[in-house]
Amino acid sequence: MYGTVKTPPAIKPTTGRAAAMTDDEYAAWREEQTTGALSVLGYAAGTAFHLAANPHLIDVFRLYAAQFSHYNLRNKLRLFGQDPRATRVQGDKWWLREGRQVVEGAAPLWVDALYTGKRTKEVTDKRTGETEQVEAQYRAVVPQQVYDITQTVPVPDTKGRGCMVCTTPAGEPCPPYCGIYLSERGRIPSRMQVLLEIFDVLKEYGGVDVEGTLAQLGPDAYEEGDQVDGTTLELIKVTMSNGRKTTRRVHVTGPDDKGRIRYAVLKVGVFWISLDELAYDQNRRGTSVRVQYGDDPEPGDEHRWAMNHGEKARPYAPVINGVTLAGYGVANADEADDPGFWVSVGRPGRYGTGRVPDKTEKAARQIVAQLVKLWRERPDLDKVRAAHDRFHAPHRLANHEHEAEKMRALAEEYGAKLLDAQEKAAAQRALLAAEKAAEDDENAAAAV
Ligand SMILES: [Zn+2]
Repeated sequence: MYGTVKTPPAIKPTTGRAAAMTDDEYAAWREEQTTGALSVLGYAAGTAFHLAANPHLIDVFRLYAAQFSHYNLRNKLRLFGQDPRATRVQGDKWWLREGRQVVEGAAPLWVDALYTGKRTKEVTDKRTGETEQVEAQYRAVVPQQVYDITQTVPVPDTKGRGCMVCTTPAGEPCPPYCGIYLSERGRIPSRMQVLLEIFDVLKEYGGVDVEGTLAQLGPDAYEEGDQVDGTTLELIKVTMSNGRKTTRRVHVTGPDDKGRIRYAVLKVGVFWISLDELAYDQNRRGTSVRVQYGDDPEPGDEHRWAMNHGEKARPYAPVINGVTLAGYGVANADEADDPGFWVSVGRPGRYGTGRVPDKTEKAARQIVAQLVKLWRERPDLDKVRAAHDRFHAPHRLANHEHEAEKMRALAEEYGAKLLDAQEKAAAQRALLAAEKAAEDDENAAAAV
């Protein structure tokens, strides 16, 4: 085996978390931990050997590793050895907060994790000789089971809805195209970092020729600081109906081909933010954004018109204080930090959106202000703008061409009118000139 395997002792300790277990529980836990400890050691070494022997796979591993910004390189080596197709890996409790549940019989992956626990210690006072029970904190690196997103299914949210990305009902696995499988945006480690890690894992076996391998690999397609694209996870504050503030996770994806960004606020709903297309050609442009409440309806949806006009809520429309939002709002992105930030908030109404209670309106504006701020601070805002402009270019071109056609017709009409006026003016000018010439002739004749 590679390195030392730290496993729980054969005899159940009387301190730490083992103390609270029955003998059977402890035996089962010990066996699981031993498997885990062997796995974390074996998979790191196995992957390190494999990459050292096949250096062309190092760049493949770098892209893989970039997806898991919350793990260190050692754990990334372990994951690569266990599931090279994994995209999002987390513990079961993390997945629950994400609105997903690890399925029964799921295949676990092993990583090392920091465990913080409490244990009671006996401390003897040297002067008095009295012993005292003292509770002490301890930290240990222990093997932990984690799961790839493919091993999870959505759990119902407050409205009983399932997956917030593909709308698969709770309890059913998402289809392969669901965006929940999209990895998170993350930084690509350098070849040097990976090789040094491999060296460290294999140091008892002679390490790896770092310089030689680097020279063998040739030019690097990725520069320092390059990232893999993907979802980003953000946090925002949400005011609940009882006035209490809580934190909500936000999955940010996009831009899509229209230059829009999707914000899925967990347990609330979906918001789309884009540049306001009506602000085209005006000086408001660039700061005026459109906030859509909920996802686009399916292309053939018979309620499409009603959803776009706020008479019906869109799929995954935000639910705030029990009120479902509909339609869309327009906001000024430059005012996202102002306490007076404004965006229209409505619920499904009879002819367009209807009013929502003041409390809901206030809570919704707080959420939108934070999302608009996230939008405004995107490093790729130029790309977002370019995608928006590209999407709107065909109909804007058609509008301008239509306008030009109208102007051409007007120009022709006015050209003809101009010519007519000029001809008439010329005729009158000629008439006056002829009259003046006759008069001059008469005067000349009289003078002789
Ligand atoms: Zn899904």
